[in-house]
Amino acid sequence: MHRLRRILTTAFLGGAVALWAPETPGGPALREPVEQVIVVGGGPAGYTAGLFAARAGLEPLVIEGADRGGQPMEAPRVENYPGHPDGVAGPVLMAAFRRQAERFGARFLAQDATALQAGAAGSPHRVTAGGRTLAARTVILAMGARSRRLGVPGETELAGRGVAFSTRDAQGFKDQDVVVVGGGDAALEEALALARSAARVTVVHRRTTFRASRILLDRARAAPNLRWRVPCAVQAFQAGPGGGLAKVVLRDLVTGETGEVAAQGAVVAIGQTPRSELLRGIVRLDAQGYVLTEPGSTRTGIPGLFAAGELADRTYRQTVTAASYGCMAAMDAERYLAEADAAAAPPRSKL
Ligand SMILES: Cc1cc2nc3c(=O)[nH]c(=O)nc-3n(C[C@H](O)[C@H](O)[C@H](O)COP(=O)(O)OP(=O)(O)OC[C@H]3O[C@@H](n4cnc5c(N)ncnc54)[C@H](O)[C@@H]3O)c2cc1C
Repeated sequence: MHRLRRILTTAFLGGAVALWAPETPGGPALREPVEQVIVVGGGPAGYTAGLFAARAGLEPLVIEGADRGGQPMEAPRVENYPGHPDGVAGPVLMAAFRRQAERFGARFLAQDATALQAGAAGSPHRVTAGGRTLAARTVILAMGARSRRLGVPGETELAGRGVAFSTRDAQGFKDQDVVVVGGGDAALEEALALARSAARVTVVHRRTTFRASRILLDRARAAPNLRWRVPCAVQAFQAGPGGGLAKVVLRDLVTGETGEVAAQGAVVAIGQTPRSELLRGIVRLDAQGYVLTEPGSTRTGIPGLFAAGELADRTYRQTVTAASYGCMAAMDAERYLAEADAAAAPPRSKL
C-alpha cells in the first residue's frame, strides 16, 4: 500500500494545496495537488463550512453547484435568521454568506460535483466536478435536500403565489382558506400551525390512515377550523383573476369524482429528498437517504468525510441550523487535519 508523503505547498485554483507523492518502490513518485478541504454544496451549510474553514487558514474550495445559494434562493423573505430583525430576502442573505466566506479566502467552483471517491485509510478523497477530478484530505458534504413535489398542473407556476412547500415559506395565510397536502407528522404540524391563524384548513391525503403520530392526529381532530378530504388526490392548483392561487382541484380516490376547494393558500408537505445520490455505497445513509453521522458530530464514519445541513438533518431543517452544522463540520475537519498532521510528524528529539 502506498504511504503518502507531504512534500510541498503550491498554488492551485488560486489557493494553497499540498502536493502528495505516493512512495512507489522503484518508480517515479506521482504528484498530485491535494486540497486541505473541499466543501460540496453552496447553501447555508456549505457557505458556512467554507467561512469557518477559511478562517482556520485552510483555503477551502467550495464546489457550490450550478444552482448556488441553495433553498433560500426560493425564499422571498427569511424572517427568522438571527441578526435580521426586519427579515431579509433569501438571495440577499445567501449572497452575504458567500461574500463573507470569500473574504477570508474560500474559493468557489460553480459546478455540480458528479462523483465522489473515498480514499483508503489516510489517502486523499476525490471529487469530480466540471470534468476535473480534485483530491482533498477532507471533504465536507453539504448538498442539502429538495422538497418533494406532487407534479400536478399549477404547482410550479403558483409557487410563491399561494402554493408553498412548508409554512416556513408560506406568507402568512392569516384569515384565509388553506389546503395542506400530506398525511405525515410534517403535514399535520403544518396544518395545526396554520389553523391558529387561517380561517379554515383542509387536510388532503391519499389514504384514510395517517403516518402522523397519534398525538398530532388527536390535536388536529380537535381543531374546530380543520376539516379532512380523504382519500383524495390533488389534480391541479388554479389561479384566480389576480394571478394567485384560488382553487385546488381534488379527485376522490374511491368514487373517482372531481371537485374544487376554494383556497388562497396551499402547503404541499409530502416530505423532502436529501441530495445524497453521489454518496450511495460510500457513506452510511438511512432509509430516506439522509447521511448518518456519528452522534454529536458531523463525522460520517469515513475518516476525513463530514456531512452538514439538510443532507444529514431530517429534524430541524432551518437556515440557522444548516449554518450551524456547516460550522461544526469545518471545526471537525480542522481537528481531523491537525490530529493527522500531529500523528505524521517525526518524533521530537529529547535533547
Ligand atoms: C421556499 C423555501 C423557503 C424557506 N424559508 C426558510 C425560512 O424562512 N427560514 C428558515 O430558517 N429556513 C427556510 N427554509 C429552509 C432552508 O432554506 C433550509 O433549511 C436550508 O437552505 C438548508 O441548507 P443546506 O445548506 O443544508 O441545503 P440547501 O439549501 O439545499 O443547499 C444545498 C446546496 O448544494 C447544492 N448541491 C446539491 N448537489 C450538489 C452537487 N452534486 N454538487 C455541488 N453542489 C450541489 C445545491 O444546488 C444547493 O445550492 C426554506 C426553504 C425553502 C425551500
